[in-house]
Amino acid sequence: MADLGNFTNTSEILKKYQFRTQKKYGQNFLIDANILRKIVEAAQITEEDCVLEIGPGIGTMTQYLAEAAGRVIAVEIDRGLIPILEDTLSSYNNVTVLCEDILKVDLLALAGENGGRPIKVVANLPYYITTPIIMALFESHMPLASITVMVQSEVAARMQTGPGTKDYGALSLAVQYYAKPEIVARVPASCFLPRPGVDSTVVRLTKYGKPPVDVTDEAFLFAVIRASFNQRRKTLANGLANAGGIGVTRAQAEAALEEMGLSKTVRGETLTLEQFSELSNCLLRAKR
Ligand code: SAM
Repeated sequence: MADLGNFTNTSEILKKYQFRTQKKYGQNFLIDANILRKIVEAAQITEEDCVLEIGPGIGTMTQYLAEAAGRVIAVEIDRGLIPILEDTLSSYNNVTVLCEDILKVDLLALAGENGGRPIKVVANLPYYITTPIIMALFESHMPLASITVMVQSEVAARMQTGPGTKDYGALSLAVQYYAKPEIVARVPASCFLPRPGVDSTVVRLTKYGKPPVDVTDEAFLFAVIRASFNQRRKTLANGLANAGGIGVTRAQAEAALEEMGLSKTVRGETLTLEQFSELSNCLLRAKR
């Protein structure tokens, strides 16, 4: 099968199958071989690796991954792409395509297919669900070596920023907690068919062996973080007290902030990861 990483071969396949790309699934196919090579290189894939690709589309990047990896598991939501993938990937016997919604896949079970060894995730992500996908990958606790993904440039900025900026939020803190982020490449809209309305960036998130902070209960830390940013305009104490599900009273939140030497009226967006960790540990002690 011809290399799909160019305009001519991609349009030919789309025409052959009369496939119309769907905006609702974020279908913007890569047509630039240099970028494809760069992504696979940055992911440092060897024949020992099992790669999880999210959203193979017509199989463009899957072909590159199949050449480099021992095994590729590609999860695609759009049933209409399956016959195309059967065609474009027919010469590879190391690729498994699953027609499923990645947000509904049991990631731990899927990782089990690799005998518990860390998986590398590589994807040109569907932009409408970038954050939920990244959070699900981290929070599933599947054995993970790295995540090398194309995202909207704005989201790449959110992954790398600290307190006090408008981009700072739950995603920034999750990335800081779980991985080291690095920019691999900036990618203009002209590298895709059809062209997206935004600029894109490839980032590599290399998973830490151990998080940089000590937390008593990781799930609770992220519940606190989400509650703090859900109500950005409110003070942190109010945000926590109003959040259903975490069981923290306003008095407990204020006492914890006081114990940490912070003002009762502080906003969540000013706290560092270390402070969020300390806060969640304090609140847990108060709840028990
Ligand atoms: N990998 C291809 C490429 O680079 O040309 C296609 C990337 S395209 C930006 C995103 C792909 O993700 C599409 O094929 C889309 O159908 C698929 N997708 C969208 N939502 C999905 C979901 N929830 N689960 C799995 N795949 C999804």
